Order: sequence, then structure tokens, then C-alpha cells
Amino acid sequence: METDKRTWAMTDHLCSRCGGRILVCVTGRGPSPGGNPLFMCADCEAAAWGMGPDVLCWCGQKYRNGDSMGMTCVRTDDDRLSGFPWGQYGIRPGRLKLAVLPRAHLRVALGEASGP
Ligand SMILES: [Zn+2]
Ligand SMILES: [Zn+2]
Repeated sequence: METDKRTWAMTDHLCSRCGGRILVCVTGRGPSPGGNPLFMCADCEAAAWGMGPDVLCWCGQKYRNGDSMGMTCVRTDDDRLSGFPWGQYGIRPGRLKLAVLPRAHLRVALGEASGP
């Protein structure tokens, strides 16, 4: 596999396997024949083509029955989350400045409609 001609950009999403940052291929042999970009974990090197980073990250995680786990990747340095109780979720905003939260809790924290 030719990897040397690829260049990668960082996304704000975390690997559902290892918690590493997901990268998206921006040049080289990234896009699949269908045109979807290649995503890869910077740490465990899991890789997949897809419409978005959710092919690898927590946003796309499903239970075995196919239901979404309702998790979402979030930037911990988002101004709107400056008062968020990260510790209650066992999260210490660190180097990556990324975390994984239940989507419903994030909506509440952002003051968005709780929705269906
Ligand atoms: Zn990984
Ligand atoms: Zn994500």
C-alpha cells in the first residue's frame, strides 16, 4: 500500500477502538473509487473509507442490534462548554482537547432543544 504520498488532516473525532484522533486523507490515494475520503486513526491505524469520520469514531458507534449508542465526539475547548462538568464523565480535558459524550447530555449543555 502506498502511504508515502498521502497527506492527512486532523478531525475533531476520536477512534472508537483506542481513543486516538481520527485523520482524514486530503491528498494522494485517499478517496475510494466512489469518491469517499479515507479516514484513519492516528494511533491504532484503523482505516476506513466513508462519508464522514463516523465510520471510525464514536459518533457512528452502534449496539449489536443496530441502534445508535447516541455518543458524540466533542471539543473540550468549545467556549459553549466552558462550564461543563467534565470530571463527572471521567474526562480530563487534555492534549487532544477532545472527548466523547452522550449526545443528549451535550444538547442540554449547549442549551439546544432536547428533541425526540
Ligand atoms: Zn484507534
Ligand atoms: Zn465523532
